[in-house]
Amino acid sequence: MKLLEMSHVKKKFGDLEVLKDISVTVEEGQVLAIIGPSGSGKSTLLRCATMLETMDDGEMYYLGEQAAKSEGGKAVYAKQAELRRMQGYYGLVFQNFNLFPHFSVLKNVMDAPVHVQKRDKAEVEKQARGLLDKMGLGDKADAYPYQLSGGQQQRVSIARALAMNPKILFFDEPTSALDPELTGEILKVIRDLAAEHMTMVIVTHEMNFARNVADHIIFMEHGVIAEQGTPEELFNSGNQRMREFLGKFE
Ligand code: ADP
Ligand code: MG
Repeated sequence: MKLLEMSHVKKKFGDLEVLKDISVTVEEGQVLAIIGPSGSGKSTLLRCATMLETMDDGEMYYLGEQAAKSEGGKAVYAKQAELRRMQGYYGLVFQNFNLFPHFSVLKNVMDAPVHVQKRDKAEVEKQARGLLDKMGLGDKADAYPYQLSGGQQQRVSIARALAMNPKILFFDEPTSALDPELTGEILKVIRDLAAEHMTMVIVTHEMNFARNVADHIIFMEHGVIAEQGTPEELFNSGNQRMREFLGKFE
């Protein structure tokens, strides 16, 4: 089943064409990695997928429901209420954690399920504590973000995203704000989620991780998908730009 389908997405900032006719499909259970040089449009693509940015043109479907269609060369979005429902289908984990600094860890995880999804507080607390346990943070429920390491904060933000019961989890460079010794603990959490068949879209500069965990990799450059395929196809690709890009990580 297709959880997300984006087609012919275009996005400009002023005169700068950041996304030039991008099409992406995410199947249920798939782990999709997006790689590519800085400035190639990876974050903008994720921000369009998660509706933090509007596309200029293109179509987008979540679980077959139309979030946006293309009409007269412009993206026309569905009604607010429909978009809000579709926003419940996914969660987003940012590079810089984006936790609420004045909320405890537990409150960070519980806030949106209680206030946005209007779920029962006791039920949410039970789930939130379970997720914190799973992230190895069972004893940090009452701590505040500033008392945690970057890796712990990022695990809280993953727990927070999971508490919304998303069908897709998006990550934008989830380890790039972390010291190298903390990167591994986040990659392990994501690897464990992949083993549980969580559908994920991950922008990453961790090439070994992309190679080992992704089912499909997209290589972006200058706002286009320059190459895509299975990790094996990508890493053996003869595409010169792709080889040069990968060469930087060796
Ligand atoms: P990546 O995540 O691959 O590094 P981005 O999607 O962040 O790339 O950015 C792609 C290009 O769009 C860059 O040239 C960036 O400077 C530009 N850009 C991104 N967001 C904005 C914005 N809000 N306003 C103007 N330019 C932007
Ligand atoms: Mg980015």
